[in-house]
Amino acid sequence: MKALSRIADFFYPRLRCPVCLTFHEGLCITCRASFFSYDQRILSESESGISMYRHQESAKILISNYKKKMIFSAGDLMGTLLTEKLSAEEERFDFITFAPSSKSSLKKLGFDHGAYLAKRIGHRLHIPVRALFRPSDKEQKVLERDERCENAKKIALLSEHMDALKGKRMLLVDDVYTTGSTVTACLALMKKHGIEGKYITFSRI
Ligand SMILES: [Zn+2]
Repeated sequence: MKALSRIADFFYPRLRCPVCLTFHEGLCITCRASFFSYDQRILSESESGISMYRHQESAKILISNYKKKMIFSAGDLMGTLLTEKLSAEEERFDFITFAPSSKSSLKKLGFDHGAYLAKRIGHRLHIPVRALFRPSDKEQKVLERDERCENAKKIALLSEHMDALKGKRMLLVDDVYTTGSTVTACLALMKKHGIEGKYITFSRI
């Protein structure tokens, strides 16, 4: 019976709530009630971007389940919630991109969590996804505020040949807004190459 349920878990991860991981088809009512909005605005009302939830309770656990425990149904739910938020937008984007992961995170996880989220959203909204940024040497989350700023300055483009994207509207997706140094650096690089960028993050500390 135990073996059977393990097989079921492997094939049907949706049968667990992606936050508390108890048996439930999708997000359970208790966890659903502990997502707290960070910003009620829509993207078009903001100059640079918005964050959806406060980085606490369900939002915080969901991100951790996705990135640390590699529970893809948690990433899928993040993608769904971001898509729902973006669907209410009047603003249209030509492309979606994602904040760079660190080389150590890519090695540890074996996948790019930002790219996965961006692809989920892009697929649902029919917007092509473009990788713009080179994976960083250091992981932002282990750094102090000042170091984060310094590290973010090192964010580089995968290619300097960006003429095809000039004048395009691009949405930058990131999981957590901590000090804002990553999204600020990414948007500045996009602007430098004539790309009109705005960000959306799942949560904000
Ligand atoms: Zn739950």
